[in-house]
Amino acid sequence: MKFRTLTPFASAAALCLSLPSFASSVGAPLVGTPFFGDPPDATHPWAIHDRNRPQPVRVAPGTSSTAQQPGQPPADAIVLFDGTPASLERWVSNRKEGGPAKWVIRDGALECVAKTGDIRTVDEFGDCQLRIEWAAPARIEGSSQGRGNSGIFLLGLVEVQVLDNYDNPTYADGFAASVYGVNPPLANALRPPGEFQVIDIVFRRPVYDGDRVLDPGYVTVFCNGVLVQDHTPLEGPTGHMKRTKVGPLPAKGPLKLQDHGNPVRFRNIWYRPLPPRAVEGGTDGQLSPAATQAKREQIAAFIRADATSMASGSREQAFRLGESLIYAPDAEIRARLERMAFDYVDEVATLPATDREARKAEILETLRVLRYATKHGLLARDFAPWSRLEQFIKDAGWDDAKK
Ligand code: MG
Repeated sequence: MKFRTLTPFASAAALCLSLPSFASSVGAPLVGTPFFGDPPDATHPWAIHDRNRPQPVRVAPGTSSTAQQPGQPPADAIVLFDGTPASLERWVSNRKEGGPAKWVIRDGALECVAKTGDIRTVDEFGDCQLRIEWAAPARIEGSSQGRGNSGIFLLGLVEVQVLDNYDNPTYADGFAASVYGVNPPLANALRPPGEFQVIDIVFRRPVYDGDRVLDPGYVTVFCNGVLVQDHTPLEGPTGHMKRTKVGPLPAKGPLKLQDHGNPVRFRNIWYRPLPPRAVEGGTDGQLSPAATQAKREQIAAFIRADATSMASGSREQAFRLGESLIYAPDAEIRARLERMAFDYVDEVATLPATDREARKAEILETLRVLRYATKHGLLARDFAPWSRLEQFIKDAGWDDAKK
């Protein structure tokens, strides 16, 4: 088949090098079919089933924890405490005078020493997936808030309660795995005191634009695999006996553990930072119209750069360039592809019958692309090559619906 030689897109190739979010997908095989699902729209930069959308990052998973033994964290986790003295150095006293954390390591767990004060991580981080496992003292002492009390403070400010409530009622919004003072857990999924509870937290801080709340921030918690906080909206820094004041929180902060006077033990503490949400500049999912347009232009530039690696003037390159028009218009590319389509249909129309059969799959594929382009407004409904190719295939008696 004939295609005119296209001008190489050297500037697009250079642009490709400046698109870090696509760096990992350069050269990666495209999986899926172009011109397939509904195209991008005003708030979705990707097509449905978009073959250009980067594959998820591979993360080697860890292993499950049991009451007896902590599991291994996933490969990309940042470990805050793993039972070693070295990992204790990632913690400091939260007291004004600072200094090393004065809690102790006992049997591989980090144990609160009463009256030494809260401890916090040297690391500061924001949105995260956090794993932390804790055990209340096996020896039961005290009641209500006095039994096995500690706390997991996200950003050093928002407490997910640690408390021995296995057989110990207390006010509901101060229960173990409550967002303290805000929301009780959905269930009491605790193991008996002395056994480790496996807590998984997904934390999203509030996002503001000036005084306007774009996202209140949320905390989701699983206790021993049971959902206990279901995307609970945040209400500000945790307080005691006082309703918290809703407002912005810092983007990052330490993880703080509370000294409430009880020798609660912790183990297997790690987190994974989470990517930004669309509302705070993330570039996946449903975006603002402005962010969508910027992302679509970025995708189009990437595809045009990718097309430069293909044989100049080839059908493969033409389709790739045509694919870029789904994301962002380009009058020059469109005009050239339209001319190529006219030439293509002229050529097909004059093919001997035997050659037509040999190229049946390719011709049907081209029709499919033209159908997609006209259906979604990339080409005018009266674009002549489309209607001519439709007629050609009808005359040839090909059942293209099965292709
Ligand atoms: Mg507490």
